Parts: sequence; C-alpha cells; structure tokens
Amino acid sequence: MPAVSKSTLLNFAVLPAVLAIFFGLRIVAQTHPELDSWIPKWDRLLLFAVVVLLERIYHYRYAVSQRHLLGRDVLSTFVTMYVVGFVTALLVLPVLAYLPQHLLGRKLLFASSDALGPLWLQVVVITAFVGFFRYWMHRLQHENQFLWELHAYHHRVTDLKALNTYVSHPIDYALRNVLVYLVVGVIGFDPFAILIAAAITFIGGGLQHCGADLKGGFLNYVFVTPEVHRWHHTADVPKGYGYSCNYSVEFPVWDMLFGTFYLPQKDGQTLQPERIGHPDGLPDERSYVRMLLMPLGLWPASWPKDPALAGTQSAPPA
Ligand SMILES: [Zn+2]
Ligand SMILES: [Zn+2]
Repeated sequence: MPAVSKSTLLNFAVLPAVLAIFFGLRIVAQTHPELDSWIPKWDRLLLFAVVVLLERIYHYRYAVSQRHLLGRDVLSTFVTMYVVGFVTALLVLPVLAYLPQHLLGRKLLFASSDALGPLWLQVVVITAFVGFFRYWMHRLQHENQFLWELHAYHHRVTDLKALNTYVSHPIDYALRNVLVYLVVGVIGFDPFAILIAAAITFIGGGLQHCGADLKGGFLNYVFVTPEVHRWHHTADVPKGYGYSCNYSVEFPVWDMLFGTFYLPQKDGQTLQPERIGHPDGLPDERSYVRMLLMPLGLWPASWPKDPALAGTQSAPPA
C-alpha cells in the first residue's frame, strides 16, 4: 500500500479512536468521583492534552496562531469548566424545582424514573432532548440581538483550537450547555440514564474545536466534527444560510432536519472555509473582563470602549 493512502487511512482513524476512548473515560470519570476529587475533570484535561498534540501532528492548512490569546483562553476555560456549571445550578435549580415542589409536593416532576420507560429509552430521549434544545438555543443566540451580543465573543476567534473551545461569555455558555441538563435532572430521569446520555452528548461535540487537520469522513454526518464546526465559524456565511449554518452542538442531524447543514464537497474532498472569524469583521477579544462586562453594559465609561482596540493596548504609543 502506498505511503500516502496509509497516512490518509490513519488520519481517518484518529477521530473515531479519540471519540471512543474519551467516551469510555467520561463514563469512568462519572462513575469514579474519587478520581475527580484528585484532579477535577481529569478526563477533559487529558482530552485537551491529546487534542493539542493532534494539532501539532496534523497541521491545518488555514491555521492561524492563537498563542497571543493564551491567557484569555486559559482564564475563560477555567471559569467555564469549573465555575459556570456550579453557579448556574445554584441559581437556577431552586427556580426549576419550584413547580414540582409546590404543585406535587416533591422535588422531581416524576416520582419514579420507571414511569419514563426502560433505561435505553430514557438514554435516547435525554440525548434527543439535549440535542434539540441546544440546536434551537444556539440558533436563537445568533438570531436574537441581546443573545448574539453574548454569543458573538465565541465567534471572534480567528481559528478553532482546543484551547478556545470554552471561550464563551458565562451566561451564553450556561444557556446553551448547562440549563438543559438541569431541566433533565428536575424531570426525574434515572441517574444512570442521565450519566450515559451526558457522556454521549459530551463526546458528540467534544472535538468540534480541535484545530488539527483531521478528516471526518462519514463521521461528519454523525458528529459535530471540526470540519463541520469550522463552517459554523466561517467569516463569510454561505449564501442563503442567514446568520450561520451548522448550529448543532453534538449531532448534525438537527441541522439536516431544519435545513441549516452545510458541508460542501469538491472532487470528493470536504472543503473548509478559508477565513474563520466574526461575520462583521470584529477582531478577537483579548480581555476576558471586557468579554464579561461589555455585553451587559457594565463596562465603565472611563475604560476603552472600542472592541477594535483589543490586542493593541499594550503596543507602545506611535
Ligand atoms: Zn454560534
Ligand atoms: Zn465554536
């Protein structure tokens, strides 16, 4: 077999292998909380390390260095991974639990998870509900002006890298990725079904920001692979797609159902956007604090207002 086709085959095998291994590790992490108490979210940190390594091996042809944003990326990742879920649960769970508590006198909507069907069906229902919810929430985050103000920071990155997966305004992230799991929890599904579905949905979208040139092949039509998600981040939205395309967070089936899936091919090759970035051309935002405060109107008047100044403030005066 010629060396080229060997390496192509190897490239196609990397995504499924990483998906399978990290799906298994996610289950281990969720069923062995004692490991998590040593290093919280150790499996996600390991995934970061593997993806960063893949980015070094499989160099992407349109790659843009994000090194100067490392501080913002690390801070944003830390807050999103370790703070946002906890704070959202603290604030939102009492509100969600209010209804069953006052109408039914119990914490959950269903007294017993048996009423929600067999375990496998619960896994399917939760997975579908999470995907459907996240697709429409994400689409709304592009269509509603205030939600877009919050979400737009995620779209100012100029290349997809493992380290900017979690570059999001905390409210934007919580609305799309935390709220839905709190709703699932209050309905009263079997905790084991929630655990399996959470692992499936996590791994379905866990590699979407991998900056390596990995070919998705048929997986592009099953999971939100980097090749699929890059089109969601294209600076030039394809004609006829309105605000954007490929809104699904883990499985592209929702885009296919609602007419927003976009993955062009030429001569049997999957094409990729040449330019990634904000559709109105805004530059990336270096300051995490500005990302937090600006869309909420809390940025002090005496501080620089123009987002275009981001990244230029430390430059010496001309
Ligand atoms: Zn988006
Ligand atoms: Zn993204």
